[in-house]
Amino acid sequence: MKGEGVTIAVFPGDGIGPEVVAEAVKILGVIEGARRVSFRLDYGPVGGAALDACGEPLPASSLKKALEARAVLLGAVGGPKWDGLDYALRPERALLGLRERLGLFANLRPVTVYEELIDASPLKGEVVRGTDILIVRELTGDLYFGTPRGIRTEGGRRVGVNTLIYTEEEIRRIAQVAFLAARRRRRRVTSVDKANVLESTQLWRDVVTETAASYPDVELDHMYVDNCAMQLVRDPRRFDVVLTTNMFGDILSDEGAMITGSIGMLPSASLGETHAMYEPIHGSAPDIAGRGTANPLAAILSVAMMCRHTLGWEEEARAVEGAVRRVLRDGLRTADLARPGERTVGTAEMGDAVAAALAASLGG
Ligand code: NAD
Repeated sequence: MKGEGVTIAVFPGDGIGPEVVAEAVKILGVIEGARRVSFRLDYGPVGGAALDACGEPLPASSLKKALEARAVLLGAVGGPKWDGLDYALRPERALLGLRERLGLFANLRPVTVYEELIDASPLKGEVVRGTDILIVRELTGDLYFGTPRGIRTEGGRRVGVNTLIYTEEEIRRIAQVAFLAARRRRRRVTSVDKANVLESTQLWRDVVTETAASYPDVELDHMYVDNCAMQLVRDPRRFDVVLTTNMFGDILSDEGAMITGSIGMLPSASLGETHAMYEPIHGSAPDIAGRGTANPLAAILSVAMMCRHTLGWEEEARAVEGAVRRVLRDGLRTADLARPGERTVGTAEMGDAVAAALAASLGG
C-alpha cells in the first residue's frame, strides 16, 4: 500500500475543464487499482462554475478543500459568459486566489516535443526533435507583486510604476526547486536574468550561484533573457532546466509552449512549501466546449506531475508519460493534433486508450 488514502481536491472548472479532468480522474483510477492506494477525490466549484453556484470565483468551501488536500487537480476557468464582470469577480481570480492562499511559489512547465507530433511544431523538425525542457518560474514575486505600484499623477502628467523586488530567500527557495528537479533529469540548470541592467536580477544571479554550491553534481550556467528568447527557438535542445523570474518566466514559458505546437499537450505544476496544484496550461476553450473533442493529454500529464512532485512516485509518473507516448505511437489523435484527413478520436476515447496502456504497463 503506497498511501493510506490520499486526498486530492478536484476542481474541474469551466468549458472543457470538466471534460479533460474526467479523463485525468480515469488515470488516477488505474493507479489506484494497480498500486492499491486509495484516492479520496474532493470535488468543488471554482471559476465561472462557482460564480454561478455561489456568486464568487473561489468559495471558502473550495479553498478549504484545497488547503486540506495533498494536492489540487484543476481543469480550467473562464469563458465569455463571465467576461463582463468586474476584475475582482472574474473566474480567473480563482487561480490567483489559490496561488496566493496555498503559497504556490514555483511553477513548473515541461516543454516536451513528442517525436510523433513533430509536424505540429512551427519550427523545423531537425531543430526541435528531442527537445525536453523544464521551465521553473518563480510565481509570487517580481513586478507582479512588488510595491510601490500603480498609476499616479505627478506635476500634471501620469506616471506608471511597478517595482521589481526579490529577497534572497525568495531566490534561494526557487533555485533549490530547480536544482532538485535537475537531479531527476540531465543535471543542468540555466538561470535566466537581466543582470547586466537590473540590480535585482544581479542579486538573482549571485544567490543562484551561491545555491549551486550545495548541488555540485548539477551544472549551472547563466543567460540573459534576450539571448534565452533567441536560443529557445535557435537550439531548444541545449536546455535542460530553465530557472527564471516571474516576469521572464511568464514570457519564456509561452514561447516554450509554442515550440511543441500543441497547447493541448502541456501540463503544469505549481508548488509551495506545503501545497501543490496541477493543471493543464490551456484555458477553458469555449469554442470547443461540450463537444467531447478536447485533447485530455495535458490534464492526464498533470497527473504524472502530481505523482512525481507531490507523491514521490517516479515510476507511476513515467508510466503515465509512457502510456501517452504509446497511444500517440499507435496513431491516436484528437482533432487539435490531427493532420488534414487523419482519423480523430474524442476526449473520452483518448482517455480510455491512455488508461488501457497505463493499466497494461502497471500490471493492473
Ligand atoms: P484556450 O487555451 O482556452 O484556447 C486557445 C485555443 O486552443 C482554442 O482554439 C482552443 O479550442 C484550443 N485548445 C485549448 N485547449 C485545448 C485542448 N485541450 N484540446 C484542443 N484544443 C484546445 O485560451 P483562450 O481561448 O485564450 O481562453 C479561453 C478562456 O480560458 C478565457 O476565459 C481565458 O481567460 C481562460 N483561460 C484560463 C486558463 C486557466 O484556467 N489556467 C488559462 C488560459 C486561459
